[in-house]
Amino acid sequence: MIINNERDPNYNEKLTNISKALTEWQGPIVIVAHVDPDGDALGSTLALKRALDSVGKNTKLLMDVPRYLDFLTNEGEISDAMETLEPNTLLAILDVSERGRVWGVSQEGIDSAAFVVNIDHHGTNDRFGDLACVSPDKAATCQMIKDMIDSSDIAWTKEIATPCLTGILTDTGNMRFANTDSSVLIAVAGLLEQGVEYAELTDRLQWRHPDYYRVLGKVMSTVDFPLNGLVATVEMTKAMKDDLGPIADDSSDYVGQIRYAEGTHIAIFFQEREDKIKASVRSRGDVSAQAVCVALGGGGHKPAAGVSFTGISFEEAKAKVLAEAKKELERHNLI
Ligand code: AMP
Ligand code: MN
Ligand code: MN
Repeated sequence: MIINNERDPNYNEKLTNISKALTEWQGPIVIVAHVDPDGDALGSTLALKRALDSVGKNTKLLMDVPRYLDFLTNEGEISDAMETLEPNTLLAILDVSERGRVWGVSQEGIDSAAFVVNIDHHGTNDRFGDLACVSPDKAATCQMIKDMIDSSDIAWTKEIATPCLTGILTDTGNMRFANTDSSVLIAVAGLLEQGVEYAELTDRLQWRHPDYYRVLGKVMSTVDFPLNGLVATVEMTKAMKDDLGPIADDSSDYVGQIRYAEGTHIAIFFQEREDKIKASVRSRGDVSAQAVCVALGGGGHKPAAGVSFTGISFEEAKAKVLAEAKKELERHNLI
């Protein structure tokens, strides 16, 4: 797994080429993002779809939209996963660090695409595809879509700007994380000028089903501060979910609740799911969540990364992540 957190040296040129490829494409365009989609995955793909539709392109956006983001979509805008792609399909893959994390199209499906475009800001992106623009200096894939639309002939509308702003807000923690630089604030200002209803959007993005709070109560009861209190952890086991019965909420940003525990440098949320065990890792300063996850086969950004496991127990997975967290703390002489 590579880590290259540098700006794409040919950023503008590559975005222009991608924009041309998309707007000049005569066949179907299928747009996809990563598994477990977040605000940037939906925001960037939906903004791109609306932009391309406005210039007469034939697009499909494939996603299993989480309930808390569904308010952004209109009837008929989102399609299910596709078994096979139509001939002469351009596949646009957004906010996906590696091919294996694409949702909606199989690996054979990706191979069958006539042309593959990769737009992303993960330093762990392996730069796959026929045209790849990967720029980890960008706070969100939505910021790249903003730059791309700005440099094209496509006219901005509130309907394009709203999802585009969404991904910038969610990937920067509402313009608070270290990836919030002046270019982010300028992009946000530009999108607000297109008529986005800002207060309404930021409020709506925080809405969660009451079940979220029921689960939160259980999750927070597991809080622990291992490694001399330098790490904060919470967990959600299958048993905890079973106890609550069917849950209507599919958001799971519980790591966001513990990342501010004083004295900690790393926060981890361990999740036992039906098909896998997932760890969501967050860090601050020079300590790298990315390094912890990449060492275990996962990926992400320096301050926010993740890793999944299959074939090992929940306890084993936890031990592996904590061992890597310890190494990362040792690298920074914190332990
Ligand atoms: P999450 O913990 O799911 O919020 O993910 C944090 C960041 O890490 C996001 O940018 C994800 O795309 C990335 N990420 C999460 N899990 C993985 C994984 N298993 N492999 C690669 N990247 C991941
Ligand atoms: Mn994402
Ligand atoms: Mn992103």
